[in-house]
Amino acid sequence: MSKRNKGGFLIDNLAIIDYANEGKAIGRFEGKVVFVDGAMPGDVVDVRVYFNKKDFAEARIINFKQKAASRITPRCKHFTYCGGCKWQHVPYSEQLLFKQRMVQDTIKFMGKVDVAEWEPIIPSENEYQYRNKLEFAFSNRRWVPNEILTVAHAQNKPALGYHIQGFWDKVLHIEECHLQKEPTNVFRNAVYDYAIAHQLSFFDTRRQDGLLRNMMIRVLRSGEIMAVMVFREQDSEHIFSLMEFLKNKFPEITSLHYTINSKRNDSMSDLDVIHYSGTSYITEYLDGLQFRISPQSFFQTNTSQAEQLYRKVKDYAALRGNECVYDLYSGTGSIAIYIAQSAGRVVGVEYVAQAIADARINAALNEIKNTDFVVSDMADALTDAFVQEHGTPDVVITDPPRAGMHPKVIEALLRLMPKRIVYVSCNPATQARDLQMLAEKYLVDKCCPVDMFPQTHHLENIALLTLRSPL
Ligand code: SAH
Repeated sequence: MSKRNKGGFLIDNLAIIDYANEGKAIGRFEGKVVFVDGAMPGDVVDVRVYFNKKDFAEARIINFKQKAASRITPRCKHFTYCGGCKWQHVPYSEQLLFKQRMVQDTIKFMGKVDVAEWEPIIPSENEYQYRNKLEFAFSNRRWVPNEILTVAHAQNKPALGYHIQGFWDKVLHIEECHLQKEPTNVFRNAVYDYAIAHQLSFFDTRRQDGLLRNMMIRVLRSGEIMAVMVFREQDSEHIFSLMEFLKNKFPEITSLHYTINSKRNDSMSDLDVIHYSGTSYITEYLDGLQFRISPQSFFQTNTSQAEQLYRKVKDYAALRGNECVYDLYSGTGSIAIYIAQSAGRVVGVEYVAQAIADARINAALNEIKNTDFVVSDMADALTDAFVQEHGTPDVVITDPPRAGMHPKVIEALLRLMPKRIVYVSCNPATQARDLQMLAEKYLVDKCCPVDMFPQTHHLENIALLTLRSPL
């Protein structure tokens, strides 16, 4: 049954039949697929459609008629509106089953390639508190959903929390987040309370003013903690007072920094970060190797899963000790460093110069002498001159961003014909596309998904490609 209603089209008793991509679940109504936020198979719900197209609709639950037997209570009080951990109502074992099926289907139906063996997804050691890095935004106007907007929630209160997905100007105030170990919540709430008590101004995205803009905190397995406060303007007196407060109140923060960002975007990579107290960097350890992390360095956000991922990459690379290996899209060179002792030479390529500088430092710290790191856009990197200088690769490891590999990189790989390619991807759709192009000369021997991001639909997938033998 359905009816029109102010604010959207209502569907009653919609049976949810499957999971869908992007953390949604689906039901069918009059032949149309309806994507529902926060639902799971087994639920029967009344929904309000907020986006209606010819073939599909998107809807929100307004009432439960029946809850799926395996549904669990979300851990976080911000679950309904935050949007960060969309699967808290789904038991972890079920999240894993769906991720496995989703990646297998994507490679099969979009890539049209056969995978000889699918290994079971490697679950995350921690279902919560698995992130080593979180970033929060300040806003002078807290976003409050209309349905709970009351006088007590007056919209002119400031916020320190997360941007609502897709809205650069809407910040949900966060009091607890289960993605990182303490002291993150205590620290963030103390910063907020201090700012209110001392009447510091919060960022106004529209007018582009206010002092407090963003903050980043990293909590490592090693116990080292880094915090970076981002201000919009150089207000030395207030900045100094806040930084002194943080330094004294949180002696457990081993590396404290701040920076000024008066640009329109939030990116920190092009800012001068000022080291305030403690050490200027922190160090994380992966299987006995050390990685120095500066405020602007990239590092995998789930440390124990990064270890699992790198172990599997090394296993798939099956190195004997004399191979020439390319590590493409190498970031700070963690994979190159991780496998270097098993290879002859490893050449990392990455276009962020600072990441390459970090990679060189990390290689030296670990006394690794058989790595080279090259700053280059991958699309232009694999020239004849490059191959002459660094050698023809026996094995290639590639870990591109969500967009996948540039077609020129794929062409170069088909020309260079390494014996094995280990392809790490955070986006099965682009990996499927790339595998299809590589299928001209490669077989996909194995795939192993790795869950780096429980409670979300994201995953990494590692594919092992081997060169087809000549006919
Ligand atoms: N393997 C790394 C992470 C790689 S993330 C690790 O495990 O830590 C992907 C990397 O690709 C990022 O560092 C990004 O800066 C880089 N990158 C993205 N597009 C690129 C391009 N066109 N050329 C070179 N590097 C690129």
